[in-house]
Amino acid sequence: MTMPTFSYIRPRSLNEAIQHLSSDGARVHAGGTDLLGCLRDNVFGTKKVVSISGLKELRSIRETKEGGLRIGSLTTLSAIANDRRVKDHYPGLAKAASEVASPQLRHQGTIGGNLCQKPRCWYYRGEFHCLRKGGNTCYAHRGENQFHCIFGSGHVCYITHPSDTATALVAYEATLRIAGPKGMNLLPIEKFYVLPDQDVEKETVLKPNEILTEILLPPQPKDLRSSYRKVRARQSWDFALAGVALALKFKEDRAEKARLVLSGAAPIPWRLKEAEQVLIGNRLDTDTIKRTVDAALKKAQPLEKNGYKIPLFRGILEEELRAIAKS
Ligand SMILES: Cc1cc2nc3c(=O)[nH]c(=O)nc-3n(C[C@H](O)[C@H](O)[C@H](O)COP(=O)(O)OP(=O)(O)OC[C@H]3O[C@@H](n4cnc5c(N)ncnc54)[C@H](O)[C@@H]3O)c2cc1C
Ligand code: SF4
Repeated sequence: MTMPTFSYIRPRSLNEAIQHLSSDGARVHAGGTDLLGCLRDNVFGTKKVVSISGLKELRSIRETKEGGLRIGSLTTLSAIANDRRVKDHYPGLAKAASEVASPQLRHQGTIGGNLCQKPRCWYYRGEFHCLRKGGNTCYAHRGENQFHCIFGSGHVCYITHPSDTATALVAYEATLRIAGPKGMNLLPIEKFYVLPDQDVEKETVLKPNEILTEILLPPQPKDLRSSYRKVRARQSWDFALAGVALALKFKEDRAEKARLVLSGAAPIPWRLKEAEQVLIGNRLDTDTIKRTVDAALKKAQPLEKNGYKIPLFRGILEEELRAIAKS
């Protein structure tokens, strides 16, 4: 594969970047670790690459006056993984960022790029003109679907959402700040991602001339217990085969609030709302954990080759809930 020809622009302001993105087919370039691979492999094309890497104001982690954090979208994954404030108050996010890819990619890759990266389905990344590329069939449905989803396909497209950090950010109820030609917008991260039966060619609600500028993390209660656990096929760098982000708050010994979110399970970070309801109001004992895990996987719809994901998710969910019960 060879890199196609495109013009490269490095604007000095957010407004300038948005103006350049408003011309047909322009693409945002942050760290480039995903974008350049997609262009080289002809997953999609472009005539113009707009690098936002010069917008220094997007590269920082700051405390909010309410006690939360604002993370600029150009902050690297390694900066997030190593930040003391993130480690102390959002340990699941620090862990998720530390488990992305390899050290080199974490130094170059940004959180904005991580949240907006393209899916990893091997047909999509290969030469197959599937539904997601505007074609008329899904090759994974009856093909090599061992790494595909068990929830949320809508019987349309079976990708798994690739970002580890998005899963943790849904558990922490993050909000995204998005800049566009009409100004700034705030959006809860759960509304950012698009399911295949809503639009199979889009992964997020971002328009081509919009830029994700910031991730806002609300303050967390001191006694919140949270974590991120990821299982991959290989010990070295790899995407999540199965993962789970948990955020639980207890009142005395009963769960008062619960967020359970899966990675490697669905085309978007997959929130387990029914399982959360099983937890709320109950002690985290063996019976509650069993009922939570049953509720979590009850509606899974495995394909021919990915049925192994059900016991895998059951196992990691149970282990993580037991670890939280002991902490
Ligand atoms: C070998 C390899 C292994 C990987 N393993 C993992 C893994 O285990 N877990 C995981 O989560 N990820 C993994 N990744 C993905 C990696 O985390 C992303 O490539 C990286 O985070 C993207 O960041 P970037 O700044 O390089 O984005 P870019 O490549 O610059 O951009 C990625 C996409 O997001 C868009 N974009 C970027 N920033 C913005 C913005 N601010 N606003 C709007 N659109 C934007 C771009 O247009 C592009 O489509 C892996 C990648 C590789 C190459
Ligand atoms: S799962 Fe989605 S991306 Fe993969 S081949 Fe099917 S339609 Fe294409």
